[in-house]
Amino acid sequence: MAKHDRLKARLAIHDNTVPNVFTTSTESQSATEGKVVRLFQEFVDKLEIQTELRLDVRKHISYASKGLSSLGPAYESLDASRPWIVYWTTHALDLLDVVLSDDKKTEICEFLELCQSKNGGFGGGPLQMPHLATTYAAMNAIAILGSGGFERAYQIVNVKKLEEFLYSVKNTDGSFAMHVNGETDTRAIYCAASVATMLQLEDKDKLFDKTDEYLAKCQSWDGGFGPNPGAESHGGFTYTSLAALALLNKTSAIPNVSSLVRWLCNRQKSVEGGFDGRANKLVDSCYNFWQGGSFPIVHGLLDQDHAPKDSWLCDSRALMDYTFLACQVRQKNSVAGGFADRPGSHRDYYHTCYALSGVAALQHVYNRHGQTTICPEPESENCLSMINPLHNVRPIAVIDIYDYFSAQLEIEKELRISQS
Ligand SMILES: [Zn+2]
Repeated sequence: MAKHDRLKARLAIHDNTVPNVFTTSTESQSATEGKVVRLFQEFVDKLEIQTELRLDVRKHISYASKGLSSLGPAYESLDASRPWIVYWTTHALDLLDVVLSDDKKTEICEFLELCQSKNGGFGGGPLQMPHLATTYAAMNAIAILGSGGFERAYQIVNVKKLEEFLYSVKNTDGSFAMHVNGETDTRAIYCAASVATMLQLEDKDKLFDKTDEYLAKCQSWDGGFGPNPGAESHGGFTYTSLAALALLNKTSAIPNVSSLVRWLCNRQKSVEGGFDGRANKLVDSCYNFWQGGSFPIVHGLLDQDHAPKDSWLCDSRALMDYTFLACQVRQKNSVAGGFADRPGSHRDYYHTCYALSGVAALQHVYNRHGQTTICPEPESENCLSMINPLHNVRPIAVIDIYDYFSAQLEIEKELRISQS
C-alpha cells in the first residue's frame, strides 16, 4: 500500500456511507466523522510538505509538566482526585522519556504521603477517606517514581494498613467496593488486584477468593464486560475485568473468549481509526487505552498458531492517525500540547495520559516470535516507550516494584521465623 493510502481509503468509506436511519446518535456520529475527516484531508493535501505524522513531544512535555506544578480553576472539581493528576502527568512524562529530578520526586512523594490514610490506602487528597481508585493511582505513581533505585517512593506505603483497607472493601461474593460502603464494580476489583500484585501480598489467593467467579458473571451476551453481572458492556469495565483476571492468573474463567475478541475488534472505528467506549458511541482518545490496552492481554489467550505475528488484532497505524492528526490540541495552526477526546474538545490530563498510553500499548507487538515496533518513523520521537498493559506503567517500573516488595516480604518472613 502506498504511503497514506490507508487514510485515503478511510476518507472513501466516509464519503460512501449513508446511515439507513437518522437519529441523534447518527447525527453526532456523522458530525464527529466530518471533523476527523477534514483533518485527514488537510494532511493528505499537504503530503508534499509534511510527509509523516508527527507527535509534538516538546509541547506535550511542557503541558504535562504544568500538571505537576499549578492547575487552573477548571481542575477545582478534581480536588478528590489529586493522586490521579499525579499519575496522569508523571506517566505521560515517563512515556515521553522525561526523567524527573530527585528533588521533584521527593516533592511528589511528600504530597502522596499526605494523601495516605491512617486506616490504610490513599484518599483523593490530604485527610480524605481512602478510596480504591486513588489508591491505584497513587501506587502507579509510586511505581514510576521508585523505578531505577529511588526507594524513598516505595517507603511511603504502609503495606499492613493498605492490606487491611483492601479487606475492608472486599465483599463476600468476591467483588470489591470502591470505598467502605461505596459502589461495587469491576473497576474496584482491578484497582485492588493491581495494588495487591504490586505489593506482592502474601495471601493474595485468600484476598481474591471467588473474585474470578464474580468477574466471569460480568461478561455480557455480546462479549464485552459490564461493571456488574447483567450490565451493559463497556470499554473501561472490559479492560478492568480482563486485566484483573490476568493479574490473578485466572483468565481461564472467561466464559467466551471469541465473543470478547469480536466485541473488542468492533470498537475500532472504520473511518476515525480510534476506539469508542461501547456500541453507538463516539470515538474518544481515552479508549486508546481502555480498549487498546486489552489487545495485548487477549493476544495471550489466542491459539498462538493462528494469532498474528507482527500486529495485535487491531490497526495500530489507524489509531496513530487518529491520535496524532485529530487529538493533539492545536492553537493557531500549531500543536499546543496535550490531547483531547476528539477534535473540537478541550485538552486535559486524563485524555493526555490515556491517549499516549494506548498508543504506547499498541506500538510495540511482543510475542514468542520477538518484538515488532509499529511507528510511522521508528527512530523518531513518534515512538513511545513500551508499557506493561496490566498496570499501565513501564515494564521496568513493574519489575522494580515487584522486586522491592517481594524482598520486603522475605525480610518480614525471616523476622517472623527468628521471633517464633
Ligand atoms: Zn474520554
